[in-house]
Amino acid sequence: MEKILIVDDSILQAAKLKAILEDEYEITIAHTAEDGLNRAKEGDFSLILLDVVMPGMDGFTLLKKLQEEVVTRSVPVILITSLSDVSNEQYGFILGAVDYITKPFNALIVKARANTHVKLYQYRRQVEQQSMTDQLTGIANRRRYEEYSAAKWKEAVRLHVPFSICMFDIDRFKVYNDTFGHPAGDKAIAAVAKTVASRLQRSTDFLARYGGEEFVALFMGDNAERIFEHMKNIRQAVEDLHIPHDPSVSEWVTVSIGGVTVVPKAESSYAFYLKMADAMLYDAKKNGRNRVIWADEKMKQRKEKE
Ligand code: GH3
Ligand code: MG
Ligand code: MG
Repeated sequence: MEKILIVDDSILQAAKLKAILEDEYEITIAHTAEDGLNRAKEGDFSLILLDVVMPGMDGFTLLKKLQEEVVTRSVPVILITSLSDVSNEQYGFILGAVDYITKPFNALIVKARANTHVKLYQYRRQVEQQSMTDQLTGIANRRRYEEYSAAKWKEAVRLHVPFSICMFDIDRFKVYNDTFGHPAGDKAIAAVAKTVASRLQRSTDFLARYGGEEFVALFMGDNAERIFEHMKNIRQAVEDLHIPHDPSVSEWVTVSIGGVTVVPKAESSYAFYLKMADAMLYDAKKNGRNRVIWADEKMKQRKEKE
């Protein structure tokens, strides 16, 4: 059920709105703008119904604050006004309200407007979601990766925590395509992505399709030693899928993995460490593929199968 937040100082009015909408939505009520702001930040609401006239912080001020907060900015707000309040309505639209409803409430109109804006919001979220997702594998796409990596790198600098950049590349995949065909290749890419994704543990673990048959993963918090162990397990899990490869190449489809763990400083360059991760991947390929090579910030390398 989609969630709607009602912010209204009048207990009676809020209860009326709730009664109109509660069949179709999960309703939360706040009786002050301050409480409304806190609840809006915490809950993932699909719509906010906001009374303009309230003692203390009024609806307009709350609307401005909602527009300033990243988490609430995109949630549609419908203003509750009285019939005489034409100028208020105009001001509300300027501030970013999507619609208004007038008191006394007409149940059908309240429902219709709520439904419209919740649907539009759902649709927009879905489009946003799709624009950040790789079609073939369902994991994050390159665009999402660019956004996420920039934000998390900054966070790691601020928190002084280890940050790991990990590159995966499927081994001898051109041969796979040549032997089994492109559609089979697509299936193999999706299967590898699914297996790697299923091995991610923390909410900050991140996996994206970097391009073609390459993936990038990001981790925060763990040191090089732990991530190296984790990556060896993931590499093994891909091999254990037992997707047959062209016998001239290897028995199963495998991945090579290269990466680096660093505690970034303000002056550290993400691009530099990404290149280092790529260099580790290149080494893994050169050393025989189907292996992990991991560097730390002192450039010490850990090599699987040596
Ligand atoms: P290496 O072990 O050195 O990585 O060898 P490789 O053959 O995997 O490397 P190369 O980069 O030469 O070839 C990658 C191949 O991956 C080329 C292309 O045929 C295939 N590929 C890239 N993207 C896709 C895709 O979306 N679907 C399919 N089926 N194949 C893809
Ligand atoms: Mg490649
Ligand atoms: Mg490859």
